[in-house]
Amino acid sequence: MRIFHLSAECYPIAKVGGLADVVGALPKYQNQAGQNAAVVMPFYNRKFVHENTFVVVFQGTTLLGTRRIYFEILKETTDKLGFELFLIKIPGLLDRENIYSYPDEQDQFMAFQICFLDWINWSGQTPDLVHCHDHHSGLVPFMMYHSALYTRLAHIPTIFTIHNGQYHGAFGWERLNLLPEIDFYKTGLLDWNGGINPLASAVKCCWRFTTVSPNYLKELSINSNGLEYLFYVERHKGYGIINGIDTDVWDANADPMVPNKFTATTVNKGKQKNKELLCTRFHLSADKPLIVFIGRLVVEKGADVLPAAIERSIQQHGDDVNFLILGTGDPETEMALQKLKDLYPQNCNVFIGYDESLAHLIYAGADFLLMPSRVEPCGLNQLYAIRYGTIPVVRTTGGLADTVIDFGDENGYGIRFNNVSVDDISSSITRAVELYSDSKKMLLLRKRMMGLDFSWYRSAKEYIDLYESLTPTI
Ligand code: ADP
Repeated sequence: MRIFHLSAECYPIAKVGGLADVVGALPKYQNQAGQNAAVVMPFYNRKFVHENTFVVVFQGTTLLGTRRIYFEILKETTDKLGFELFLIKIPGLLDRENIYSYPDEQDQFMAFQICFLDWINWSGQTPDLVHCHDHHSGLVPFMMYHSALYTRLAHIPTIFTIHNGQYHGAFGWERLNLLPEIDFYKTGLLDWNGGINPLASAVKCCWRFTTVSPNYLKELSINSNGLEYLFYVERHKGYGIINGIDTDVWDANADPMVPNKFTATTVNKGKQKNKELLCTRFHLSADKPLIVFIGRLVVEKGADVLPAAIERSIQQHGDDVNFLILGTGDPETEMALQKLKDLYPQNCNVFIGYDESLAHLIYAGADFLLMPSRVEPCGLNQLYAIRYGTIPVVRTTGGLADTVIDFGDENGYGIRFNNVSVDDISSSITRAVELYSDSKKMLLLRKRMMGLDFSWYRSAKEYIDLYESLTPTI
């Protein structure tokens, strides 16, 4: 099947979070299973791509409302990614310094979607399926089925995957004119709560929607930032497919960003050496349990509760525990963490920023990974931790509930808790500290985790089965 994945992010070109990891891996594994999947994403700027590895394969102009825009389609030529990658370059609109957070973001992604449709329409391509990811490509299903410009594409199935249902990309009706030649009788399919809501529209118009874990699919009917009723009504179209991880990138025995490589057999030795490197760099002691957090410092991830929970644990366990935080996000949380580091320099350190190779080293060197998330559609960090023998300490929500079994249960390997509260987090840390003192048990759990399979092979197959159910004649 010829499949186009549409996304705002794709690893290793442009990454903010898990969306990039998924879109950078899923097509590769689909192609290994015999499909012909390609990714289409915006061209942001030269910081993200070396233009000399791309060739221009299409040039066109189109209308965004009353504004005529020029665009180019660039195709990646190195063949290293395992899938074809196309970038849509719209000078002056998409090629900016950063990926998100511009006041005209809706125009940017609207233009991205229109250029994609114009390109496949006018270049005569007929994919077997279009797979959209998150709200940045959420209006594509509506336009394919309800715009007079794209009737040639109206029979093609669309899948929409929700990586984060909290963000909808909504905007006001005054910008309806941005959508090209649409059927006005169908504009209700764009609406949610009196505005144009790309996420809601995608769920209404796509053939099937998926969430990145089965548990998250259930949760969306309870908490999706106002779309609960929609998810309830459309539940017959929903599938929960857990994300995989790219085992080519995430392999403790081959990872170029991990100085001391290890397997399940050598996990204790390898981990300790990586931990020593980390602890030297961050002025911590490699003899204590190292508990880490990696991720966006936002309320969604429970990061606001971290400073108080860490402080409580340091006070409870004195010198028996170490914390290292890597992340960037809400300024108050960043400041509270910096303050903690100043107060307890021997127990806690913080790296504010985004650093891919440091993240790999931390997964490889840490003993425990803390994830007190309020919302976690799938969560990739716990899967990377599991693969690197690092025990996940997670709030039981979303994909965390699907992927982490408490070590107190049969075949368990992690620590689970119920509430994003200082009490629950600090008592889980107490469990972690006690577990750390039982070296036999630690080794057993590390080996158990490293033997688990969260690779993309299984998940990619589930997506292909879903595609095939929609295209039985192919
Ligand atoms: P989300 O997409 O909601 O941020 P995920 O768990 O799905 O969360 O994916 C997060 C990804 O981003 C992981 O690959 C994680 O290692 C990475 N990441 C997050 N913050 C940082 C950071 N500050 N430095 C390096 N990697 C980070």
